[in-house]
Amino acid sequence: MLELEQALETILTAIPAPKTETVSLAESFRRFAAEEITALTNLPPFDNSAVDGYAVRSGDLATASAQNPVSLQLAGRIAAGEHFHGELVAGQCIRIFTGSPVPRGANAVAMQEDTTADPNDPLEIKFLDSVKPWENIRFHGEDIKRGATVMRRGEMLGAAQLGLLAACGVAQVSVGRRPSVALLATGSELKEIAATTRLAPGQIYESNCAALTPLIRVAGGIANIFPIVPDHAEATRAALSRALAECDLVVTCGGVSVGEMDFVKSAFEELGGSLEFWKIAIKPGRPFVFGRLGEKLLFGLPGNPVSAFVTWLLLVRPVLLRWQGAAKVGLPISMGTLAESLSNPDGRRHFIRVSMDASGLVRSAGTQGSHVLSSLAAADGLVDVPPKTTLAPGTKVQVLHWE
Ligand code: AMP
Ligand code: MG
Repeated sequence: MLELEQALETILTAIPAPKTETVSLAESFRRFAAEEITALTNLPPFDNSAVDGYAVRSGDLATASAQNPVSLQLAGRIAAGEHFHGELVAGQCIRIFTGSPVPRGANAVAMQEDTTADPNDPLEIKFLDSVKPWENIRFHGEDIKRGATVMRRGEMLGAAQLGLLAACGVAQVSVGRRPSVALLATGSELKEIAATTRLAPGQIYESNCAALTPLIRVAGGIANIFPIVPDHAEATRAALSRALAECDLVVTCGGVSVGEMDFVKSAFEELGGSLEFWKIAIKPGRPFVFGRLGEKLLFGLPGNPVSAFVTWLLLVRPVLLRWQGAAKVGLPISMGTLAESLSNPDGRRHFIRVSMDASGLVRSAGTQGSHVLSSLAAADGLVDVPPKTTLAPGTKVQVLHWE
């Protein structure tokens, strides 16, 4: 059996180079920089005040204290957004606010809290404390220098990055295009869920599309849900043919084991695709199909809901990210401590569904059958337990999460 990492490596090397497009900053959220992004302005763009107070020359206040206040003449006022044309000279102060440009001649800002106004002379301000040179001034470029690299190729544009780019004057960015992803559930027993549907004997509700569609979206794909494909060779071929024509990536679930009713593999080959079929040594989710037809890629997930979910996370989610140019494609990970033992008597790795509390204690999320959805819904993540291994309580474990 092929190991998971080897399978992923094979798949990732088959992904075509990302296609790029230029989008506004607002549209770039959770997408991936297609090229290095540099700051178009210094951040901050000009020296400005960090506090509400008075711009001063620090030397004027060298002796100021609560017992011996120093008085300075109020020579002006600079609101945020204003430009001050004059220059501060010795013996003067200028009223200033957080974010206001520091006037020429000033080398510090005294905090408003360290001053009192003279009630008889509003133009005389008393200073109750000294200030160090450059105190309470935020210098232009101290955060980011104009022309500096703010994002590297392949990095994700999260909320914080969007804030940084906006502050640096970057309004548009080049990002990897999103892949369109066809999602096809196969199985004659499946019934599409709708408010009015009732199950006939032998039928079950189709549930994989409900779980996989949001997973496609959070990985940046554009989901295209196809009608349920019955277990017929011709129907499977027709559905696959349309999906391959219309979408960049095709994901099927069900119909990929060795059962005589499993048509996905043969249909794909009849359409000219080349296949790799793996029994990857993981639980849940053994049968997994990867196929190529030109630049189009096919992923055949097992039908069991938890197997489909877990193989998606481990083997297809990284594809969507890399297709868009992402440098990092691993699942989010946190460290936890086992509150109880986790046992894998099986000969293949078991990705055990676990819950994790706020203090990082990890427990099994319930029965682990590959058809058991309740424990998946109760889970906060997965712990990769090696074959024939029992992890004792207290063991530090990596918990793999999904978005
Ligand atoms: P298969 O891989 O087609 O042999 O399916 C394995 C198991 O998963 C069977 O019990 C199917 O009924 C079930 N199954 C397959 N596809 C789905 C689906 N889309 N939604 C819910 N259950 C499914
Ligand atoms: Mg089936």
